[in-house]
Amino acid sequence: MSELALHTDPDCLFCKIVAGKIPSRMVYQDDELYAFHDIHPWAPVHFLLIPKQHIASMAQLTDAHAAMMGRMMVLVPKLALLEGCNPYPAGGFRMLSNTGAEGGQEVHHLHIHVMGGPRPWLRG
Ligand code: 5GP
Ligand code: ZN
Repeated sequence: MSELALHTDPDCLFCKIVAGKIPSRMVYQDDELYAFHDIHPWAPVHFLLIPKQHIASMAQLTDAHAAMMGRMMVLVPKLALLEGCNPYPAGGFRMLSNTGAEGGQEVHHLHIHVMGGPRPWLRG
């Protein structure tokens, strides 16, 4: 997917991060996905994996997003290990996606939190 074809929202914090207008500590990127460290980590490892295109939340997903979401799921365990999560089963990681106000979502650009590392954690 070309950068020009990406749907973005100029007022969206994570679209600005994807565009490099707001700095972030990158973990991974490819044509359609971007991952970066959370600015307020809950755990020794805490990064966010997002689509580069603006999708407000999981509530907006359609069948057209199935392949991309599948790629995200497959990427999570790989990036978790690369970022320092310990191997399963003694280690592992937590992934979650807050969706909507009652789901605790604060930034309305779909994102998956990936957290791991030795406990205790700050939260979660
Ligand atoms: P939510 O509550 O929407 O699931 O999570 C949003 C996450 O984005 C929070 O964990 C918060 O710390 C993180 N975050 C908010 N603003 C920034 C930022 O400017 N840079 C980075 N790297 N993370 C951010
Ligand atoms: Zn966005």
